[in-house]
Amino acid sequence: MSKRDYYEVLGLQRSATAEEIKKAYRRLAKQHHPDFNKDDKEAEKRFKEIKEAYDVLSDPQKRQQYDQFGHQSDFNGGAGGFGGFGGQGFGGFGFGGIDDIFEQFFGGMGGRRRPPGPEQGNHLRYDLEITLEEAFKGKSKVITIPRTETCSECNGTRAKAGTRPETCSACGGSGQQQQTRSTPFGRFVSMHPCVACRGEGKVIKDPCPSCSGQGRVVKEKKIDVKIPAGIEDGAKLRIAGEGEAGLRGGPPGDLYVVVRVKPHKIFRRQGPDLMKEVPISISQAALGVEMEVETLDGNAKLRVPEGTQHGTTFRLKGHGMPYLRGSGRGDLRVTVKINVPKRLNPRQKELLAELARVSGEEAGLDHKGIIDRVKDAFSGA
Ligand SMILES: [Zn+2]
Ligand SMILES: [Zn+2]
Repeated sequence: MSKRDYYEVLGLQRSATAEEIKKAYRRLAKQHHPDFNKDDKEAEKRFKEIKEAYDVLSDPQKRQQYDQFGHQSDFNGGAGGFGGFGGQGFGGFGFGGIDDIFEQFFGGMGGRRRPPGPEQGNHLRYDLEITLEEAFKGKSKVITIPRTETCSECNGTRAKAGTRPETCSACGGSGQQQQTRSTPFGRFVSMHPCVACRGEGKVIKDPCPSCSGQGRVVKEKKIDVKIPAGIEDGAKLRIAGEGEAGLRGGPPGDLYVVVRVKPHKIFRRQGPDLMKEVPISISQAALGVEMEVETLDGNAKLRVPEGTQHGTTFRLKGHGMPYLRGSGRGDLRVTVKINVPKRLNPRQKELLAELARVSGEEAGLDHKGIIDRVKDAFSGA
């Protein structure tokens, strides 16, 4: 099933502001929350879809990756659920009630609600293009990636060096405040997120200047990527821990290098085998020939036997790509293409005509016929 576009799910333009995204989510989440739509079996699905869209679009980094790469369904699951959308993927979402929606915005609600815990950093993807020769030999390549790292000044605490986040005095660190309302139906006590600390339970009086109180900074990092010999187009190399920094002490994400092998001018590839075409002449096909053919590492001998037909494929064992696992190599499959000469000099024409004549064939398009002319020459006319 193809996924709906996140902007479409929230009914937004791609240019929507963070505020618009938040508003649309609040409105839709309330409207479709399963607690309010108990008889509607589709509600849970719609709600999940809305939440997923919001999770991605409300995070500037995830949104940017989504804008760039789309759903990346290709990367979900498989190698650890990649897609740049956080390590935990999208699954495992339960319904604790309407408060869940607010938890989204304000973090923990205190009491039975947990404050936000450590979160793994985003995975990163890097597309690396290499040549077939590089895939053949293997390669070590240094790539430079911009990524967020834990701020070294504040160690991710977000507070200026020498200070630390203080417990919020307005809510006593619980992150929530109580509100009592009287209505015609009775008195309601509701909890809402603390305004002073935005539900975090802590306030930072002096934000760290080097990360502007974010706890993370964007840095360029050089990483040496080892590409094993025999790697295939589209292969993903996982480099553990080289993704973005985690949040609140969470582990970093992973880096995935997606290897693209450029098409080659001469060789095509099928698994461990290489394929190429080699032109031979009519005479070589008929009489046989031993010739040198180019491989990815030097030349190899190809023996074309007498009477070889156009399109015949010969297998040169061990002249293909190295196996990614284990030792040894695939084969080189050479297909011969018989080249029919387009321009012949008189002597060549004469010899072919002679060949046709002794074979009892008719050949030639001159009004008299080349065979007749050759005959004339022989009879001395
Ligand atoms: Zn900092
Ligand atoms: Zn507070």
